Amino acid sequence: MHTIKVHDKTFTTYLSEQQLQSRIKELANYINRDFEGKKVVFIAILNGSFMFVADIFKYLTIDSEVSFIKLASYKGLNSTGSVTTAIGLDTDLHAKHVVILEDIIDTGKTLHYFLPQLQHQQPASLKIVTLLHKAEMTQYPVPIDYTGFVIPNKFVVGYGLDYDGLGRNYKEIYQLEEAT
Ligand code: 5GP
Ligand code: MG
Ligand code: MG
Repeated sequence: MHTIKVHDKTFTTYLSEQQLQSRIKELANYINRDFEGKKVVFIAILNGSFMFVADIFKYLTIDSEVSFIKLASYKGLNSTGSVTTAIGLDTDLHAKHVVILEDIIDTGKTLHYFLPQLQHQQPASLKIVTLLHKAEMTQYPVPIDYTGFVIPNKFVVGYGLDYDGLGRNYKEIYQLEEAT
């Protein structure tokens, strides 16, 4: 078992490079099968998804475009919560097959607010791929079509995912060690 330190916290290996790569290959194969003969526009949600997107793309055999976007959340002053804004969505999605690539879905809030902005453009289809899903944390239902791993409610870093800006630069995914 590997241990890393990010800022003041200790994390231990949770998903190995081999586990990640073989599951990502499987996800790519499902997408290759489901979109055979079609062209897909992948929407990669930065920052956390950059490694996942780079790796899954190597296994895609269908016609694949990619557009990187960043979502900015603004905490509202009232109880309705936050607004999510797309930065850099420069592709016209009308009548296109669109597949979102996410690193992790936790409460579902981010995608719940962002999906209508995509649906507004009337794509031919809209699917969601997430590498990780904290299923027990769902507060905002999101229709996930392809999930890499369902994980427990423990904070994870590595493979693109950060803890306060650091920890993205690892081939594996690490879980926060419980304070005992
Ligand atoms: P949501 O609650 O909207 O589904 O997830 C919001 C965001 O929280 C994710 O995109 C991700 O940036 C962050 N997040 C949730 N759980 C974790 C985690 O365990 N590790 C890291 N690094 N980020 C997380
Ligand atoms: Mg994300
Ligand atoms: Mg983050």
